Amino acid sequence: MSLAERDHNVIWHPYTQMKTAALPIPIVRGEGALLYAEDGKTYIDAVASWWVNLHGHAHSYIAQKVADQLQTLEHVIFAGFTHPAAITFAERLIQILPTGQSRIFYSDNGSTAVEVALKMAIQYWQNKGIPKRKIIAFRNSYHGDTFGAMAVSARSAFTAPFWSYLFEVCFIDVPIPGHEEETIKQLEAYAHASDVAAFIYEPLVLGTAGMVMYTPQVLDQLLSICQQHDILTIADEVMTGFGRTGRTFASDYQQLKPDMVTMSKGLTGGTMALGATSCNEKIYEAFLSDDKHKTLFHGHSYTGNPVACAAGLASMDLLLQEETQQHITHISQRHTAFAEQLKSMPKVVEVRQQGTILAVEFEADGTSYFNKLGDTLYSFALEQGVILRPLGNIIYVIPPYCITDAQLDQVYQTIRGMQELITGNRY
Ligand code: PLP
Repeated sequence: MSLAERDHNVIWHPYTQMKTAALPIPIVRGEGALLYAEDGKTYIDAVASWWVNLHGHAHSYIAQKVADQLQTLEHVIFAGFTHPAAITFAERLIQILPTGQSRIFYSDNGSTAVEVALKMAIQYWQNKGIPKRKIIAFRNSYHGDTFGAMAVSARSAFTAPFWSYLFEVCFIDVPIPGHEEETIKQLEAYAHASDVAAFIYEPLVLGTAGMVMYTPQVLDQLLSICQQHDILTIADEVMTGFGRTGRTFASDYQQLKPDMVTMSKGLTGGTMALGATSCNEKIYEAFLSDDKHKTLFHGHSYTGNPVACAAGLASMDLLLQEETQQHITHISQRHTAFAEQLKSMPKVVEVRQQGTILAVEFEADGTSYFNKLGDTLYSFALEQGVILRPLGNIIYVIPPYCITDAQLDQVYQTIRGMQELITGNRY
């Protein structure tokens, strides 16, 4: 039996209709931006394996640091105990996080980092004895698949079975260029009611919504309204963190800084499952009390896992190297040049770019995730040896920073091929 058949017998994959989906492609090895399939085919990982991989697959430096940590201390209960990797990683995160972040709470993935931030925000007001409980979020955002994270995310077809279980959220539109004033008005209307606890947002780029982008200037306006009305702010940097937008965090483009930041994905360079939520002293101090009820009662068995923290430290070493920073700039510049070429082509509605994130929106009937175009483009890219997972009619590139020029050329060539396919109605 092939690996794919064995997989099909026992595994239930995420975001996959198991009845109709093609068998998965078994990947047996990775190196740099390349993934090697069992059948000998290679694929360029142009989506960094769900936006997590920063420095390439099976990176020897991270592998060594992880192996060292595994042989020293693989795990320890994180209540009442601590260890050097978690402490050092938290210290170093605070050094690179937006100004004001001073505490790190570890978890296991992006969704739980968001859960922690929401719990901190809600309990902050309870601990202070102030009746603020509502959360504001962007209407088509994505913050994860756990219940709290789903609640503050778009009411999309994906979450439809659970809508009636989700807490109510004040949704505002994404302030895309030309529509900023509407969003500002919507936020102001909610902010004037005195019961808003927090505003959670994906800074500058809404990933799952289709790499929808908006400016740092309008975000500063939104953050300013929140500050005036004492509304806590949560920057969900799960996707945008660690260099993706051209700066270490998307929040680095802002004049005004958030109260909390959620991180995962690039936190370990795509090697180990780890999440982190940072906050400022204002939040942290509201939980300090002789009254035990004011404790943040949240944690996971693997909270602060030493191996994941060691991977995070190794990834940060690589991220801060001059060479990686140059790669980030180089990819960003190449994306800009490609976007320029593509944007006037037929069937291209818009090309959006922020740093190493590039999105091409094609003209299509309906923008549903379930549309036929997305499936066709996905298969077309695979045939060209490139992994691109369309969000319906939107193709995006978010590569490992070590991607070579030749590999990036192949990715761009594939997108041009898609444009020709659509122009010729060959799908
Ligand atoms: N927040 C944002 C902005 C994301 O893009 C994602 C995942 O795509 C999440 C949260 C959830 O992260 P995870 O898939 O690790 O739970």
